[in-house]
Amino acid sequence: MNTSPVAILFDIDGTLITSAGAGAESWRLAFLDLYGLPADIGHFSDAGMTDPEVGRRTFAALLEREPTGRELTALLCRRLDHLRRTVPESAGYRVLDGVSELLPRLADAGCLLGLTTGGTEAAAHIKLARAELNHFFLFGGFGSDSPDRTELTRCAIARAGTILGAPVDPAHCLVIGDTPSDVAAAHGAGAVAVAVASGKFVEDELRAAGADHVMASLREPFPSPPHVSAEMGASDAFDWPGIPPAWTSSAKDAVTTALGLSRVWATVGFRIINEVYRPATGRPQVRPRFNRRGGLRERAQRDRGARTVSRCRNVPA
Ligand SMILES: [Mg+2]
Repeated sequence: MNTSPVAILFDIDGTLITSAGAGAESWRLAFLDLYGLPADIGHFSDAGMTDPEVGRRTFAALLEREPTGRELTALLCRRLDHLRRTVPESAGYRVLDGVSELLPRLADAGCLLGLTTGGTEAAAHIKLARAELNHFFLFGGFGSDSPDRTELTRCAIARAGTILGAPVDPAHCLVIGDTPSDVAAAHGAGAVAVAVASGKFVEDELRAAGADHVMASLREPFPSPPHVSAEMGASDAFDWPGIPPAWTSSAKDAVTTALGLSRVWATVGFRIINEVYRPATGRPQVRPRFNRRGGLRERAQRDRGARTVSRCRNVPA
């Protein structure tokens, strides 16, 4: 049985945080310092483009020639110098919905979390530092790795394998982003594309871009990668760790516990054992099962009187 670990890769802007224009302002100030031109990168670049590409295109448009390597380097460095001030000073900076709850939950569950961002590595860490999110991410693929978003996503997946000591199957990786570029990069790298409509694109646009899963925000139940149910080890908990445990139906036929020293409790309903509790009965320990569209399959099955799938957690195999 293949039990390859899962890596989850997050875009930053529009997915984890919004810096409310701090990035664009840092570019404006960098061009103003070096060339006396208050550049508006929005006129020359698209969402999801990498930082070196944004700098190169804006430079070429304003100065009507390609930058030399030295000029591009100086521009990127000056931009970072401004970014470390514009991010902390940005009045509209905020962590996006669900992020503060989701990241610790995934990290506690042992998920390998990384970044895929068009920003240079230093820019990524500056943007996350204000919200103290850097410590969740052990690795990443950055705009400083490649001007091509698909290629930097491949870099991130390769680094996940480096950390784990064995290559990671891209199909076992989720790439979370807010733009069609993120979706295309995920698919280009062979990963599962999860699009979140917390940036400039609405759910229909992300669905049309081909995302495997679309979420309104990261507060919604986190999707299960397709391989998890089929390949989970015997000691793994059912369903995806991003989904919080929840109470299930109170319509029980029986509540029982084992004789002896065992702390295991179980409930019976709808003709099957449908809840198992250990070590405590005072909090939900069962994860609701979600279908691919995020709906509650368990509830739908129960309402139809169909067989309900048991979900249990913390129970030794
Ligand atoms: Mg983004």
